[in-house]
Formats: sequence, structure tokens, C-alpha cells
Amino acid sequence: MSAAEAGPRWAIVVHGGAGVIERQQLTAEQERAYRDAMRKVTEHGAKLLSAGKPALDVIEATIGLMEDDPLFNAGRGAVFTAQGRNELDAAIMDGETLKAGAVAGVTRTRHPISLARRVMSASPHVMLMSTGADEFSRQQGLEQVEPGYFYTQRRWDALIKYLEANKLPVPAKPTGIQSEDPAKGLAHDEGKQGTVGVVVLDSSGNVAAGTSTGGTTGKRWGRVGDSPIIGAGTYASNRSCAVSATGTGEYFIRLSVAHEICSLVRYRGMSLQAAADEVIQKQLTQLKGDGGIIAVAPDGQMAWSFNTSGMYRARAAEGQPVTVGIFKDES
Ligand code: ASP
Repeated sequence: MSAAEAGPRWAIVVHGGAGVIERQQLTAEQERAYRDAMRKVTEHGAKLLSAGKPALDVIEATIGLMEDDPLFNAGRGAVFTAQGRNELDAAIMDGETLKAGAVAGVTRTRHPISLARRVMSASPHVMLMSTGADEFSRQQGLEQVEPGYFYTQRRWDALIKYLEANKLPVPAKPTGIQSEDPAKGLAHDEGKQGTVGVVVLDSSGNVAAGTSTGGTTGKRWGRVGDSPIIGAGTYASNRSCAVSATGTGEYFIRLSVAHEICSLVRYRGMSLQAAADEVIQKQLTQLKGDGGIIAVAPDGQMAWSFNTSGMYRARAAEGQPVTVGIFKDES
């Protein structure tokens, strides 16, 4: 975009996870459920942004909606660890100040993204983990839920399949299960992962990024992926761009994917799409990693790039209606 051509004043890009998502695998009903969910979240974000809401508020509100939606691997609907628990990771970053907050392995907070934001705003730290993060969440008065709140039958079934294939013992179900199948058969199993993420440019010219996930099915030993690692799965700077990732986190950590994309924009002057493709289509693919990213820049450029068969994604900007995509062959 030339300097004379002003970009949109605000923009939002959303993802709901990447993985094996092929047209023939999704029923018409499932496809509609995901498209509707992605549209609803993006429209909500667009409404907030057009009303002048700050980037961080929009990240928290939109990711909060997805954490409540059992279709996605974040909050309710998260995948299980090998011990039959939901250990949730989330991160948020403010591109204006470079402040960031992240949590790993939290088990009781309904909205991990809100907890990540509190780590950023109400603690001197960037990242809290496990029982300490759960305790901080209670102290902050964030909504706490029973472990069974996060339960969905299809994620439990996926765990059993994983444990049997890996000859691991099957644990007891979590306590306090509210509903066996809140997604009512609409959810699609996109592999052993998934994640949600949002990046926005607000009308004050600030970018921000947020990511929330249950991680990967059957994870063990306190495994943490890229989502809450600042620079890997989540990064934002007004000097370059904001990025949220999804995919097999180990590769994203090794490549510092989110920060690498921002560095290519900042130091090599690449367009956002070219930088995203360089890291996902070349670097990640060469390493045999799988997944994708969404990104937005302070001048209103938006991008997504993934090397899986699908990624739930949507975007909107001032003067540009919501576009939703799932499969590779969609623009
Ligand atoms: N990146 C997440 C993780 O590795 C999972 C995903 O996005 O699918 O924890």
C-alpha cells in the first residue's frame, strides 16, 4: 500500500485453529456451525472496533467468546492431558507498550485470556504457570469453574483413542461434568490440536494479539506449547505487526514464529503477507512443522498463512465486510 493510500482505521483477524480440515470430512451442518461461529466473533470484534474500543478490550472480548464455545480447543471444549485434565494456556500482548501477560497450565479459570491480561496489568510478571497461576486467578476474583466445566465428549473420545494408541492408562473423568456433549455433534475433530487467536488494529493505531488453547491431546509432563510463549505463538508491536499462531507448538517455539514474522516486516521491510508466507510456507514447512498464523499491521494490512489442509479463519476491517474461510482453496 502506498503512503498516499490510507489503510482502514481498524482491522481484525481471527483464527479458530489449523489442522486436518478437509471439505469431504465436514458435514454441511458442521461447516455451517464453524462458519457461523467465526462470523459471530469477527462481527462482534468489528462492532467494538468501529465504536472506538481499544485493541486489548477487543482481544479479551472476542477470545472470551471463543473460550465459551465448545467447538474450539480453548476454555470449554479444550483437549485433555494424558491425566484427563484440561490445562489451559493463554497470552495477550499490547503492541503500543510491548506489555504482555501469559499463563500456562491453568485448570479452573473460565477465561484464561482474562487471566493473561491480569498478569500483564496487575502483576509485575509476564508469565505465570500451573497452581500459582490458578491462585493468582482466584486472588484477582476471576470466574472459577469446576474441572468438568471444560468437558466435551468428543475431546474425551479423542483422548481415549490417543491413550490406547500409545498404550497409556485411561484416567478417571473430571469431576463436575456439566454436559456430556455441549457441541451437539457439530464439532469436527481437526487432529490432536486446535487453538483460538485474534489480532486487531484499533482506531487509535495500536495493534494487539491474543491466543488461548488447551494445547495438544494427551500432553504429558507439564508440556506447554507456543501459544503462551511471547514471540512464539503470540507477539505484537506497533513497529511491525501483531501475530497469533496455531499448530504444533514445538516448531513454533523453535522458530520464534510470531516474532520472526514481525522482524521480517520491521527490518526487511517485507509486506505482512510475504513475511507470513516466508515463515510458514518456507521455514516452518522445511522444519516439517504444521500450522498457521494470522497477522495485522498498524497500516491496516491483514494476512494469514497456513500449511495444513485447513484453518478456521475470518477477517474484517473498516469498509471491508467479514470474510470467513476454512479450506485451503478459499481466498
Ligand atoms: N499451538 C498449540 C499448542 O501447541 C496447539 C494448536 O494450535 O493447535 O499448544
